[in-house]
Amino acid sequence: MPAPIDDIVHGVPPVVISNTTTLVNRTGSWKYIRPIYRDRVAPCNEGCPVGIDIEGYMNLLREDRVEEACDLLLRENPMPAVTGRVCYHPCESACNRRSFDEPVSIHAVERMLGDRVLDRPVEAIPHVQKETVAVVGSGPAGLGCAYHLVRLGYAVTVLEAASEPGGILRLGIPDYRLPKDVLAREIDRIRNLGVEIRCDTRVGKDFPWEDLDSFDAVFVGPGAHRSRPLGVEGEEGPGVLSGLAFLHEVNFGARPDLGKNVVVVGGGNTAMDCARTALRLGAKALVLYRRTRAEMPAIDEEVREAEAEEVAFQFLAAPVGVRRENGKLLGLECTRMRLGEPDESGRRRPVPVPDSEFFVPADTVLCAVGESLDPDALPEGLGNGWGVETDAFGASTRPRFFAGGDVLDGPRTVAHALGAGKRAALGIDRLFREKRGETVREAIPESLRYGRLGNLSATRWREDDPIPRVGAANEVVPYEDLNIEHFDHAPMHGDRLRVPELRRTGFDEVSRGLGTETALEEARRCFNCGVCNQCELCLIFCPDVAISRNEDGHGFVIDYEHCKGCGLCNAECPRGAMTMTREGL
Ligand SMILES: Cc1cc2nc3c(=O)[nH]c(=O)nc-3n(C[C@H](O)[C@H](O)[C@H](O)COP(=O)(O)OP(=O)(O)OC[C@H]3O[C@@H](n4cnc5c(N)ncnc54)[C@H](O)[C@@H]3O)c2cc1C
Ligand code: SF4
Ligand code: SF4
Repeated sequence: MPAPIDDIVHGVPPVVISNTTTLVNRTGSWKYIRPIYRDRVAPCNEGCPVGIDIEGYMNLLREDRVEEACDLLLRENPMPAVTGRVCYHPCESACNRRSFDEPVSIHAVERMLGDRVLDRPVEAIPHVQKETVAVVGSGPAGLGCAYHLVRLGYAVTVLEAASEPGGILRLGIPDYRLPKDVLAREIDRIRNLGVEIRCDTRVGKDFPWEDLDSFDAVFVGPGAHRSRPLGVEGEEGPGVLSGLAFLHEVNFGARPDLGKNVVVVGGGNTAMDCARTALRLGAKALVLYRRTRAEMPAIDEEVREAEAEEVAFQFLAAPVGVRRENGKLLGLECTRMRLGEPDESGRRRPVPVPDSEFFVPADTVLCAVGESLDPDALPEGLGNGWGVETDAFGASTRPRFFAGGDVLDGPRTVAHALGAGKRAALGIDRLFREKRGETVREAIPESLRYGRLGNLSATRWREDDPIPRVGAANEVVPYEDLNIEHFDHAPMHGDRLRVPELRRTGFDEVSRGLGTETALEEARRCFNCGVCNQCELCLIFCPDVAISRNEDGHGFVIDYEHCKGCGLCNAECPRGAMTMTREGL
């Protein structure tokens, strides 16, 4: 109701004025929901099998703290220049920004940081612990395990059968995807930290398994190097080669003459690498795969790059025999396939179509239908026909023996191998600390994981996180919890690729990654999901002035006596670091 005209003095109606602070009104007492201010887990962090704090280093990059971002990355990942190139980046499939426009190109930012630290000088870490560890195999699993152990102060010796370290990264993946000098420099950093790597030492042949008894623990990461056969009559003979053996040869400098037509059988990474390598040796390459493109296990980018380079594909086709004349290979007898019911892998089983045989001419056939474990690569009593079973810390059923990488029954990727190596390093540390009588964590607590997928944080294990956390909750932040009104659309900066015509002529690297400035711009596309980055929007929007800065300058405190539970801070927080909960819960 308008004020009576007599009460208006100089045109101002009367108002109630308090001569004390509003803080006496404890308005918080009647709320039934309250905000909780705590960091949560970004979905990219949960999605990375290596267990990298992606959100954390993106946050540092946003503030141009590039060297600190490198340090944070190296705390979890011994080989960022490698993973930035060859990891299939499940982190990006999980990235919340995917629902907004396009995911953050995490692998490209990682690659920039990885390349930046390739020549950074490192100092050897003193072996302050008395225990010693042997690592069998210098693939990503073995090197990952050795790296984290040496950082925990243990003396580690890696025994490697091949003449150079790196496992499949050295033996299988071609130069045009992972240049040898990048890998070598990344391994040098691990060596310089104090890991001893002995090459040309096959355990079980050059070094008896029993001699490993002199070490306090053993990590076994021999990978899976036995090429599966095609399973057709006549495959033993000239012209039909193991795809992995062929890649191995080329990776050590050989340039075999494959003839004009090369047929690659298989649909995984080995098949793609064989076909693209054959092209670079001057042949025409045809990939024969028994399912469709959708079921191909190869990394999608590799398939797209192979297509762009004009590798030909024949889907729903499988070999049934080898045709030779006077001992010379003529080609493959094939049959058409159709997809039947799903098999144990969940993929639809390929079934031969009756009377559909056809012939594919070939000068060379490269067999890339998968790799299995070499039983000689394991000591007696460790593992069964398909591999080794371990607990969440990589411990096998044999005391003191740990295992990881392709030798496990799980996804076979570089990132999974690095993650398994790290898990085992923490498991070995736990074993030694238990023996020393120290109190250690029984099982893997929630606080050690990123999300639910089992990828662990070495930083949290060591309890020396350089970034202050606010009541970190192991809860992944979904896209719906973000306030996307605070973000602008911006296209993703993808890898710069050389044109296909130039790529095919040699083994130069196909992807040029991103330049530093573009990578930093890309990092600024990150929403920093779930983690407060001090933007102060909660403080600014709180109508009760119930949010204030923490005394130490990091983060905020909520004055629950005055917060009315209106939820504005929760609604305004761009990154889901404020959640609402019922009072009393
Ligand atoms: C051709 C090819 C391309 C691939 N491309 C990709 C890719 O792009 N991205 C991706 O994520 N994954 C890729 N993969 C899969 C990935 O390389 C593997 O999952 C990963 O290398 C497994 O790591 P690992 O350490 O378990 O084994 P490996 O990398 O296989 O290393 C095992 C090492 O152990 C050594 N060894 C074996 N037995 C003994 C012994 N008795 N004594 C001493 N040393 C021994 C071997 O010589 C080898 O160096 C590819 C695989 C292949 C075959
Ligand atoms: S290692 Fe792979 S999954 Fe992890 S952050 Fe790098 S690209 Fe992503
Ligand atoms: S936006 Fe950033 S923090 Fe969020 S999931 Fe993507 S990379 Fe991770």
